[in-house]
Amino acid sequence: MSRPADLRRQELVALYREVRGCTRCPLSQSRIQVVFGAGNADADLMFVGEAPGASEDQQGIPFVGRAGNLLNELLGEQGIQRDDVFITNVLKSRPPGNRDPETSEIEACRPHLERQVELIEPKVICTLGNFATKLLSGSQQGITKVHGVPQERTLGARKVLLFPIFHPAAGLRTPSVKEQLREDFAKLPPLLAASAPAPGTEQGPPVDQLGLFG
Ligand code: URA
Repeated sequence: MSRPADLRRQELVALYREVRGCTRCPLSQSRIQVVFGAGNADADLMFVGEAPGASEDQQGIPFVGRAGNLLNELLGEQGIQRDDVFITNVLKSRPPGNRDPETSEIEACRPHLERQVELIEPKVICTLGNFATKLLSGSQQGITKVHGVPQERTLGARKVLLFPIFHPAAGLRTPSVKEQLREDFAKLPPLLAASAPAPGTEQGPPVDQLGLFG
């Protein structure tokens, strides 16, 4: 059952206040700041990347560098605005020199991501690249094998559709991957439409919020 969006948003803000001081792993000593995530706190579609890079560490916002520009372009092609979705990463702190996340760092940061998913209640989670895909699918199958095919998963208490996609940074390096990214992004609108409640079955606000008993 869904909890009221306003309450979930307030709890997400409280989580941000907590996580921005996080010292659960040594990256807290090298980062400029925590990159918590940004976007719609009640998004149906959530993106999970790998870890902040230099620009993200400076600005405190995910995907604002070159990979972020490509992500914006791919979203725009599908008529999706950044403000409609929530974007975050497996790691909330930048690894020095953009090295790969370490297992201990992923495990330390994992509760933050799990809590974000619990509060935002997305219907579709698009995992960008291997780290997010392996973490959230619970499988070691790599992105080359699994991209573009939705997977049903239960995360916490909720069912979600995982939709693995190549990391945009890989698309910047390899034109054929960029084309594949385009094809996979084109599957997002129908996937979102299919995961929305059928017309007439929406729950609406809880009845006690309608002022009917005053
Ligand atoms: N790459 C990521 O995985 N995340 C960012 O926020 C930026 C680049």
